[in-house]
Amino acid sequence: MIEKLLIANRGEIALRILRTCKELGIATVAVHSVVDRDLQHVLLADETVCIGPANGIDSYLNIPSIISAAEVTGAIAIHPGYGFLSENANFAEQVERSGFIFVGPKAETIRMMGDKVSAITAMKKAGIPCIPGSNGFLNDDTRRNKEHAKRIGYPVIIKASGGGGGRGMRVVKSESELIQAIALTRSEAKLAFGNDSLYMEKFLGNPRHIEIQIISDGKGSAIHLGERDCSMQRRHQKVIEEAPAPGITKEIREKIGKCCINACIKIGYRGVGTFEFLYENENFYFIEMNTRIQVEHPVTEMITGIDLIKEQLRIASGKSLSLSQKDINFSGHSLECRINAEDSVRFFPSPGKIERFHAPGGMGVRWESHVYAGYTVPPNYDSMIGKLITFGENRSVAIARMKNALSEIILEGINTNIILQQDIINDRKFQRGGMNIHFLQKRNSF
Ligand code: ADP
Repeated sequence: MIEKLLIANRGEIALRILRTCKELGIATVAVHSVVDRDLQHVLLADETVCIGPANGIDSYLNIPSIISAAEVTGAIAIHPGYGFLSENANFAEQVERSGFIFVGPKAETIRMMGDKVSAITAMKKAGIPCIPGSNGFLNDDTRRNKEHAKRIGYPVIIKASGGGGGRGMRVVKSESELIQAIALTRSEAKLAFGNDSLYMEKFLGNPRHIEIQIISDGKGSAIHLGERDCSMQRRHQKVIEEAPAPGITKEIREKIGKCCINACIKIGYRGVGTFEFLYENENFYFIEMNTRIQVEHPVTEMITGIDLIKEQLRIASGKSLSLSQKDINFSGHSLECRINAEDSVRFFPSPGKIERFHAPGGMGVRWESHVYAGYTVPPNYDSMIGKLITFGENRSVAIARMKNALSEIILEGINTNIILQQDIINDRKFQRGGMNIHFLQKRNSF
């Protein structure tokens, strides 16, 4: 096993990784920016290194600083968490070239999946169902672009090939809007991602977002850990996730799971990963693959009893998969509410000092967060400050526990989206389950 791990991230995921390391007896190095000295995982780590100023570009995205920190502390491996450098192929490459283990797939896999057009092309080849689309990049040939859209059928969606975080997409309802929409998305993509490659897909009217968690050792073995439903979204960003997805039968799960396993084996995938699909009229359509641990991984852990960080570390240390598909038993239901430091109405970020804090608890309640009373949420990073996860023998028990847990949290001094989360959890339609990705947008008109 890896003896010492550098955690190249912050907040709840850094703490989550640190906890598994402690359990496994792996020494930890926490790297942090100047405003993050008081993060919980920094206080708990064996060694800490300040890697730069508050601005992410100068610290958590600063590759030379992170690699130097690994060198001076004698870390063996680097875990990138999610966000920041987790899907940066150059980082993975430089980590390995410098003689460290990158906890994640090979750089070439990250590169292939990081570009959505090349990901779709590779996945199609590997037998994964994809959305009808432009089958490649869009160029500036107006006639050809119109032909693509006509063949696919309106509405279509123009997407940035290098996009992420729900940005760089535009829905086009008719031919008259097409050319301007392509030009606008192109200039936005260039600004946001430094890459103006675009592609076109059929815009699905009422799909659900369903994704499959996989673990693959890169040595010919892979398994799936079932699906998560992440259809509760605001501006293409997930708000609540759950596993299993309401209405997905064992047969449907096994069929799509097998497809993903085959694709992992075909491309020699190494590590944990997620195939994201849109699901409409009982068909799955691949949208992208995340080559890292995801925010919503705990709901899968709750229904399978498998620690995904532990599996990542096992694979990174060169071990083969210890589990086979028949070892995976799904039991019960789990929900996750993302708790953000933002107001529930206008969604403005709300950094500041947490004056009073009380964590929720009880049977089937898991609170993944780095915050504590007296902690100051800095304005420099993502607004997510915690994840509230519940588990129950069925969905209604998980919902009842979520209601309790949300009402128990006391978090004063900053605004949070807890009221919004309570509102959704109490919604009859949400409680029925199986709502599509437009549900929140339509309901709250945000
Ligand atoms: P990102 O990498 O920015 O998260 P994705 O390709 O994963 O982008 O898409 C994010 C979300 O955008 C999806 O969960 C879905 O809500 C919406 N979306 C993406 N593609 C389509 C499509 N073809 N039709 C309808 N909605 C889409």
